[in-house]
Amino acid sequence: MSELLIEGGTLVDGSGAPGRPGSVAIENGRMRILEPQETSDPTGARIDASGKVVAPGFIDLHSHSGLWVLAHPLHEPKVRQGVTTEVIGVDGLSYAPLPSAADLRALVEMNSGLDGAPDMALDWESLGEYLSRFEGRVAVNIGLLVGNSALRISRLGWDDVPADAAAVADMRAMLREAMQAGALGLSSGLDYPPGSYATTDELAELTAEAARAGGFYHTHVRYPLGDRYLDPFREAIEIGRRGPGPVHLTHFYHRQTHPGGPGPLLELVHDARAAGMDVTFDTYPYEWASTRLLIQLPGWIQAGGPAQLKERLADTASRQRLRAELLERGAAYTSPAGWSDVRLGYFARPHNMRWEGRTLAAVMADRQVDAVDAICDLLLEEDLRVNQVTAGPWSETLPRFIAHPVGMIGTDSTFVGDKPSPRTYGSFPRVLGEFVRERQLLGLEEAVRKMTSAPAARLGLPDRGLLRDGFAADVVVFDPATVRSNATYDEPRRFPDGIEHVIVNGVPVVKGGQHTGALPGQVIRNR
Ligand SMILES: [Zn+2]
Repeated sequence: MSELLIEGGTLVDGSGAPGRPGSVAIENGRMRILEPQETSDPTGARIDASGKVVAPGFIDLHSHSGLWVLAHPLHEPKVRQGVTTEVIGVDGLSYAPLPSAADLRALVEMNSGLDGAPDMALDWESLGEYLSRFEGRVAVNIGLLVGNSALRISRLGWDDVPADAAAVADMRAMLREAMQAGALGLSSGLDYPPGSYATTDELAELTAEAARAGGFYHTHVRYPLGDRYLDPFREAIEIGRRGPGPVHLTHFYHRQTHPGGPGPLLELVHDARAAGMDVTFDTYPYEWASTRLLIQLPGWIQAGGPAQLKERLADTASRQRLRAELLERGAAYTSPAGWSDVRLGYFARPHNMRWEGRTLAAVMADRQVDAVDAICDLLLEEDLRVNQVTAGPWSETLPRFIAHPVGMIGTDSTFVGDKPSPRTYGSFPRVLGEFVRERQLLGLEEAVRKMTSAPAARLGLPDRGLLRDGFAADVVVFDPATVRSNATYDEPRRFPDGIEHVIVNGVPVVKGGQHTGALPGQVIRNR
């Protein structure tokens, strides 16, 4: 007896083993694998998967949906890609634990250019309460990382201050409690204040605490550090060595503007693993990065939180200081095109709507101002909520990261603005269509493994990421001959082709390529 039977397809089970014929029967939200000669007596629906691949649902190791999915629970950009589980609380920026309601509101404002500021009540008082908001109310399963910014805000506030032994002990205690309440690990985003004020030692202490509870350290590294190439990743690995604890380098890739090639970056991972460390990474398969425009500004101007930041943005002396630093350095995290590579989005004020999808260079030319005035004015006018899309991974070297055996997929999906990075709508289908089928840079089974059992192992999920008897029935059915991304830099909000059925906890969320409206997502808790 089964509620749903997926029959006639090729099972690519997530382990990396060759695909084989078989069926998946779903009973009480769990799966049972049937050999080709076995039959089941379905009381419910059947899916004819002839000619299709049946695989575990995809697990996304980096998503900016910590607020967004609560306001937009169908989560169509992601489920239409075959994503059944995603990780939030990334980049050090989790919306719990934050015991102070004022701090929660301030973090939402500060981070609105990245995670959005959806119209919703920000009224949870604990991490457990925050997690419960997702349970059965969103389309995908949700796992939470504890951001070190949240820990720092709660214990030390928003200033650039050192954490003494007592503060570190208190942050460890908060993290321990969060892990007991179900968090899967610790995240950092060392471009984003106040988490970026943390030292190597402080992060190592927190990593040790996460590891003690079975978690790991998920890091957006300190990109401005040292040579801005290898040193940021050396620090991340050092944090794991000192902790000790497992390290996951998120959105790990090589930029065209790096002083060396991709080899030395990947060697850092190789060497750490050869020395016995547990180091893994994820990459998104697009050339376009995206984050809040605020990332262009240095840490000092952001100290104290959003209110103080806005005062400084309006202050002539602060702008002069910015000018000295910024105009010499130029745009951060862009191609050599600099400010013309900074595409803006997510405007709320009517008079700024015309800048949606246009570049900072265009704003500068139109307003006859330099980059400092353009950025400060836009951020003030929009209460900080401006998003940017810039060049990210270099297309020439991206395949080395996508195909690397230790690598996984993290979409780094951002949902704000008319034109987000195409990674938000296309990441998993692009790997399957372009990297696997068209360019044959890796095999299908290997690609599916990197999207399923590998991230499940990283997250410590005992019953997801494989097609196995008794596992949670997170399943995707796709056509290996047609699966492809349709999202591009200019037209990023286009759904992919070839992702036909997506089942979350046994419930169809995508059926024949269309969303069913179901919201069966569960919270994935550390145990
Ligand atoms: Zn991110």
